[in-house]
Amino acid sequence: MLTKIEVTRNYINGEWREAETGETMESVNPATAEIIGESQKSGLEDIKLAIKDAKSAFGKSDWRSNSSRRSDALMQWAYNLKEKREEIARILTLENGKPIKESRIELDACIDTLKYFAGMARSIFGRSINLSSTSYGIIDKEPIGVVGIISPWNWPAMLMIREIAPALAAGNAVVLKPASRTPLVSIAIVKLIEKIDDFPPGIVNIVTGPGKVIGDEMTTNPDVNAISFTGDTTTGKNLMKKAAEKVKKLALELGGKSPNILFADANLNKAIPTVAKSAFITAGQMCFAGSRVIVHESIHQEVVLGLRKEAEKLKIGNGLNESTDMGPVISEEQLNKVLEYCEIGRQDAKLVIGGNRLIGGELDKGFYIEPTIFDYVPMESRIAQEEIFGPVLAVQVFRDEEEAISLANGTIFGLAAGVWTKDVNRAMRIAKKVEAGTVWINTYNKNYPQTEFGGYKESGIGRTRGIEGLLEYTETKHINIEI
Ligand code: NAD
Repeated sequence: MLTKIEVTRNYINGEWREAETGETMESVNPATAEIIGESQKSGLEDIKLAIKDAKSAFGKSDWRSNSSRRSDALMQWAYNLKEKREEIARILTLENGKPIKESRIELDACIDTLKYFAGMARSIFGRSINLSSTSYGIIDKEPIGVVGIISPWNWPAMLMIREIAPALAAGNAVVLKPASRTPLVSIAIVKLIEKIDDFPPGIVNIVTGPGKVIGDEMTTNPDVNAISFTGDTTTGKNLMKKAAEKVKKLALELGGKSPNILFADANLNKAIPTVAKSAFITAGQMCFAGSRVIVHESIHQEVVLGLRKEAEKLKIGNGLNESTDMGPVISEEQLNKVLEYCEIGRQDAKLVIGGNRLIGGELDKGFYIEPTIFDYVPMESRIAQEEIFGPVLAVQVFRDEEEAISLANGTIFGLAAGVWTKDVNRAMRIAKKVEAGTVWINTYNKNYPQTEFGGYKESGIGRTRGIEGLLEYTETKHINIEI
């Protein structure tokens, strides 16, 4: 059933505005290829206006100095989102394709994150240092100013809130640029602030439109003091080059190729379903998807068989069905890209299951791919090295710890890893040697607003969530006083 959503507008300085371009862009449901709504296809004038208004709001309101106001505003936003959870979960599934039960989890994570940073807004403090009998140093934490937040489509609600909540808690004004494939859900969440008096107009702005125009202007405009970018590593690198011109403060959350390392003594009853879920969640379109399994030779066959059974069990279909475990990928373009990787896999490795577009009945209209597993994947294969962003799992075999570490660290990425063993000493040894911003031991995909997240190597710069995630959105000032 098609539910047509209205044409959304940009939110600038507390007003809903149409783009100066007079153009809109369509949002497509990846499960049916139907158009479900439209948003503004903004141009340079729109984003420049939003930045100007954000700067002015930051300068004139008491937002930056009134931490209890910020705390109340974020808490109220959390309550409003809780109230509209079901309605927004539906928009998220329609626009992104993910199963409705996953959309609810994503929104619950948003609510939790807003609440956490509502509390943290009151807990930003510096320190003082007694430098001599007459000299004191005060180390002060200040908001940065206008923060540009550029977010992707795969977890569009969470990845926007994950950045906007700490940026606002720290006292900044924000301009959001959601991904062009998922603007409707982002707008629906921002809409929830319009009746919250504690948000001064202009402190939260959202402008939808193409990354190359809107994102580019945000990156180069001198009135944007910092950029938080979550997206593809190649886009992030280009953005970094542009931001260098203005020496702009930058936080980058980029791609991954995360391994799960399974030792012979792993609890396979827990490991196999968790590892499969980590690979196929959001149809594999997850930055920290466990897209590689590095397994000890003694349990290799058992693990591959178990993973195959898990893949066979998945109910694939329209995300609006309560029983759906895996939806389509985001677009036809993404579908073709994943199928190309499956061809590479067929040449370089052994296909265990999947590898094809899923068709038949209602699946014909959408962008569905079979959950796919390749075994004996050589480290030099592109399916071991590159982020596929689809439901494709690469299995690799190791003989000893040294080889496991070498395989785990053998890509340009370093976002996350899982270690599965009953030997605590070994688990800690491996966790210390793996080059990744997050290491899960005997579990995977456990994220909390209070724990830092981010990438080693080409998976990113800076940290999101937790205290460090909050401090990313502050400047540090030393005030020295002689008495
Ligand atoms: P993308 O890089 O194509 O787009 C991300 C955002 O950047 C979008 O809003 C897009 O419109 C914008 N953009 C595009 N060109 C731009 C430009 N020239 N200047 C400024 N902005 C521009 O990424 P995507 O396809 O939306 O998302 C998938 C990627 O995001 C994957 O690589 C995934 O691993 C990564 N990701 C990382 C994390 C993390 O926390 N590390 C989380 C989720 C997704």
